Amino acid sequence: MFDVMIVGGGPAGLAFAAALAEHRLRIALVERQPLEVLAQPPADGREIALTHRSMSILKGLGAWDRIGRDDIAPLREARVLNGRSGFALSFASEAAGDQLGHLVPNNRIRRALFETVSGQEGLTLIAGTGIAEVRTDRTRATARLEDGRQIEARLLVAADSRFSRVREQLGIGAQVNRLGRSMLVCRVAHEGDHGGVATEWFDHDQTIAMLPLNGRLSSAVLTLPAADIERLAALAPEALGAELTRRYDGRLGAMTVAGKPHVYPLATTYAHHFAAGRAALIGDAAVGMHPVTAHGFNLGLQGAAELAGLVGMAARRRADIGSHGLLRRYETAHRLVTAPLYAATNLIVGLYTDERPPARLARHLVLRAGARLPFLRRTVSNMLMQP
Ligand SMILES: Cc1cc2nc3c(=O)[nH]c(=O)nc-3n(C[C@H](O)[C@H](O)[C@H](O)COP(=O)(O)OP(=O)(O)OC[C@H]3O[C@@H](n4cnc5c(N)ncnc54)[C@H](O)[C@@H]3O)c2cc1C
Repeated sequence: MFDVMIVGGGPAGLAFAAALAEHRLRIALVERQPLEVLAQPPADGREIALTHRSMSILKGLGAWDRIGRDDIAPLREARVLNGRSGFALSFASEAAGDQLGHLVPNNRIRRALFETVSGQEGLTLIAGTGIAEVRTDRTRATARLEDGRQIEARLLVAADSRFSRVREQLGIGAQVNRLGRSMLVCRVAHEGDHGGVATEWFDHDQTIAMLPLNGRLSSAVLTLPAADIERLAALAPEALGAELTRRYDGRLGAMTVAGKPHVYPLATTYAHHFAAGRAALIGDAAVGMHPVTAHGFNLGLQGAAELAGLVGMAARRRADIGSHGLLRRYETAHRLVTAPLYAATNLIVGLYTDERPPARLARHLVLRAGARLPFLRRTVSNMLMQP
């Protein structure tokens, strides 16, 4: 019998396993993808904007120093633009030379976390087969693997994505909003200098963001109705580069495609509970954020650290690591952190994708009001920079 069974070796599951390293628990981490993919995850187009808090958690886990310096791009400022207005709401650090955060490719984070847990004492990595079925009772969680094996643990932790099957099997419902829109993400090289500034432009009928990478390189993030994105993703690289240049109004000069485009259909999810008997949800399985405010992994990491802290404390005291009280404490803490951000992000998405005239006016007023409320801007900037 294991102490902890983690379902899903994505960034949240791996970070949770790493955060338990010092407690010498017997951990099973089950990931459906083969070991070679976990060890060398291919680029998936996601450039993750990490907050200062996330960087410090990753440092504490020993994963940050495994990320190559060339893969880390400083984020100096973020600007929000609306429609054809020349006005921009800007978020930046008040201390000269300080960064808002850093951008790191998702596959580099995953690789660093995998290297961190490789060889971890007490950890059994079961890759290349998924969990087919789980059930829990008062004392344990039992899982049947897709290859027929059965494993048991005192605590089950689901980190199996926003469409978590484990969540379903535990009988935990979730708010699931399929938005009918997709995001195309693609690296582009450009003539102009981005100056370390990320831009989120809520234009009429499209949202386009440019995330600054090292050199004259950015990650273009375009959101449109799903069918339009599929059409653009099928374009030849030259045509896609020209399309992105046009859609970004040539602000960074001519752009050429510098990486494979990836498409993500947009859906947001929020689990009705983050815990059940002998089980907890972390990462996207608990909260699947809209990527526009770049919080998904940051919150997943924070939740994984929170739960690992509670489990570690119980292990040190030789108490039950899957007790009802412990799991409720995790749930309460993580809901407090995630619920306001989830609601605020969905509000922003709703307002900035509504093309009716009242919504257009409202978003203009919101940006102007934001500019006049230095307190609000400072709060958002500090939130990004939290140590
Ligand atoms: C375009 C885009 C941009 C983003 N940008 C940001 C950003 O800037 N900042 C930020 O913080 N977040 C960002 N995010 C969100 C971030 O990528 C996710 O929050 C994060 O990847 C979630 O990690 P996870 O480990 O919870 O889930 P996942 O990454 O979905 O991993 C789940 C894992 O579980 C495995 N699995 C599933 N089912 C089973 C099973 N039955 N048995 C075994 N294994 C299973 C899967 O194979 C997978 O490896 C972005 C997301 C997108 C789409």
